[in-house]
Amino acid sequence: MEENQLMESGVSELNSNAFFIDPVRILNHSYTRFRVSPSTYYSRFFDSLNSAQSPKASEDSRKGKRKRKKKIQSLNEREQIADRRHQEVKPFLLKAHEALLEATDLLKVLRNLRNDVCSVGECKELSQESSELSFMELGGVWQAPLCEIVLNYQQDDKTLQNGGFPLAQSIEQKVTPAFNNLVANEGSYDIEAELFNHKYIIPKRSCFYMSDMQQIDSLIPAGSDCGFNLIVIDPPWENGSARQKVRYPTLPNRYFLSLPVKQLCHTSGALVALWVTNREKLRDFVENDLFPKWGVTYAASFYWLKVKANGMLTGELDLFHHRPYECLLLGYCDGKDTHSGNSTRLNPIPDNRVFISVPGDYSRKPPIGELLLDYVPGSMPARCVELFAREMIAGWTSWGNEPLHFQDSRYFVSK
Ligand code: SAM
Repeated sequence: MEENQLMESGVSELNSNAFFIDPVRILNHSYTRFRVSPSTYYSRFFDSLNSAQSPKASEDSRKGKRKRKKKIQSLNEREQIADRRHQEVKPFLLKAHEALLEATDLLKVLRNLRNDVCSVGECKELSQESSELSFMELGGVWQAPLCEIVLNYQQDDKTLQNGGFPLAQSIEQKVTPAFNNLVANEGSYDIEAELFNHKYIIPKRSCFYMSDMQQIDSLIPAGSDCGFNLIVIDPPWENGSARQKVRYPTLPNRYFLSLPVKQLCHTSGALVALWVTNREKLRDFVENDLFPKWGVTYAASFYWLKVKANGMLTGELDLFHHRPYECLLLGYCDGKDTHSGNSTRLNPIPDNRVFISVPGDYSRKPPIGELLLDYVPGSMPARCVELFAREMIAGWTSWGNEPLHFQDSRYFVSK
């Protein structure tokens, strides 16, 4: 039952408040000609499959308790608040994890996700030799305004859109600036794009704006009802740990205060979803400074619980600085019409909902935007934007200094 749901939609309900998701299947809703390659998405956490140890949540939790007990006296005031927060959410996380461990058929599917849906030869490894473009370097040079991206539309995109049949295939090219420019694929098919001899796959009906944070004002809609109903934000928070590997530049918290979230909102309001780390200092900043400055009213918290391919948590639940979960804070931002009776009635957002998945690359979040649509104000289809995005989704605008990062053709296989 659960595995059928997973196969079809990429989402499987474990209990009323917990879901297992396969990001690859969810992302594939955005593509018609290409597919996300599971073996390049799941580049980590598939190494312990042969481990003889079976997934035992309770054992993990017992070990964790011992560690926590040992440490608790030495926690400072802030850490104690963080620990209280953790203790509050822990029962929801454990219940979700236990439901996963009981779903034996789903666990079988989980073990195979990496080799899923690809035939021999398609399951590629990420080549160490073929380098990725550094968009941050390219966007920072004086020639950046001259860099152009070539969008290759297949002629049959147009004939099919007009209800016709594909004729002999020919390519129609559109050349447009790659940086500080809204680049859109308005067609109903994914297309291939070229930038500096690298190929990128652009989902159907999607667009990106590749720029530094200073340029974000360009996204503010000119028309009064062209704002966004769903705003997902995954900021490059500074990490306290000097040992943390740096994969992208981070910004001090105060920079995010100037994000024009209110101006990006649709007149009928927006659901704002903000990824945060488990550091208490950051949670305090978001609650007391950031959300009030953005005009966002807190509504609920969702959690992403990370498991390995064998169903075990990626780390001990109680380990203080390396929790195997992350939090998505949800809140509402009023639009101009929110109080004038024009806003549609919303489903209440459930608190402490848990999404379980096997993580992809470093800091890559699971694509749960689609699963938030039930709680988004305004009429459908919702207008959705992701800020600090590294990938694109059909129907969304992706903004950041590297929104094409995971669109590199090396992460895809053709259908
Ligand atoms: N949500 C993304 C994902 O799932 O892959 C991860 C986003 S990561 C936490 C933050 C992103 O913000 C990185 O791509 C980083 O390069 C980008 N970033 C850092 N400084 C920036 C700036 N000044 N302007 C725009 N983007 C920036």
